[in-house]
Amino acid sequence: MMNQTDDISVVEQLIDGIIEKNPHSKDMLNAFRPIMVERIRLVEKLELKAAEPPKIDGRKLRAGVPVIRQAMLFYHDDPWDEIALSMIPAIKRGLPDLENDLDKLEALIKNGNINLFDCFKSYPDKGEGIIDHWATELKIGLPAIVFLIKSATRIILEKRAKHIDWHGIEWKKGYCPICGTFPAIAMIEEKIAWRWLHCSACGHDWKFGRFICPFCEHEGEREVPYLFIEGKQQESAFSCDTCKRYLVTLNRVSDLNVRDLDITAIGLIHLDIIMQDKGFQPMATCEWNVF
Ligand SMILES: [Zn+2]
Ligand SMILES: [Zn+2]
Repeated sequence: MMNQTDDISVVEQLIDGIIEKNPHSKDMLNAFRPIMVERIRLVEKLELKAAEPPKIDGRKLRAGVPVIRQAMLFYHDDPWDEIALSMIPAIKRGLPDLENDLDKLEALIKNGNINLFDCFKSYPDKGEGIIDHWATELKIGLPAIVFLIKSATRIILEKRAKHIDWHGIEWKKGYCPICGTFPAIAMIEEKIAWRWLHCSACGHDWKFGRFICPFCEHEGEREVPYLFIEGKQQESAFSCDTCKRYLVTLNRVSDLNVRDLDITAIGLIHLDIIMQDKGFQPMATCEWNVF
């Protein structure tokens, strides 16, 4: 088993390797580098309170109700402050435009004036009221608040999802079985009939058919609804003419390679630009695919 330093140096090497292959993604990947590294460090290191493992109703799951709509996944005594105060310096290093707003958030959290968990009080509905309140009353820019909350949510969900017992229940939807978000990237392994979909909101991967649209479940008439770039056989985008959504896809992956699908997705932003130029929208809006 690798220790954490190994994990982090592997991530650094992965980022460097992708930049070498796709130099246009350099600025974006370097911006996300400290954020990715800190997130991996926290997921590895943090201990969540020994909550009951989320209980799943197999029938509901088979009917397409994700875990987040069935079980409590966020708790007041989860380490929200520790996550926020560790992620803020990393986000500032990567995205210096957010620095002023992140400084304000840092001070408010340190003084105990706000707690990120407040956003989950109205759970499972989104805590948009709280976020708007912080933005308008406390005069903090919305992008910084949303980025920090998304980062913290990802860490908590990634940790908590590890304790879910699936009992072999198969998930047949194009959105994430844990958090209900649509995938940010797909991966197709060599000689395998399905594709893996990856959720960037919680880090979960699940199997899905290759030719059905994960967004609207339309089954394409075209045999291969994938766009490829000449000379780059591993990089493609699935697209659906019915809902006009696309999904960047890593192809012909051999199992021997170490990979991180969030980093890979950021390395494929040239495909995001091409597909959005063609009038398609991403299935999941991520910080790196909004132009
Ligand atoms: Zn998810
Ligand atoms: Zn579709």
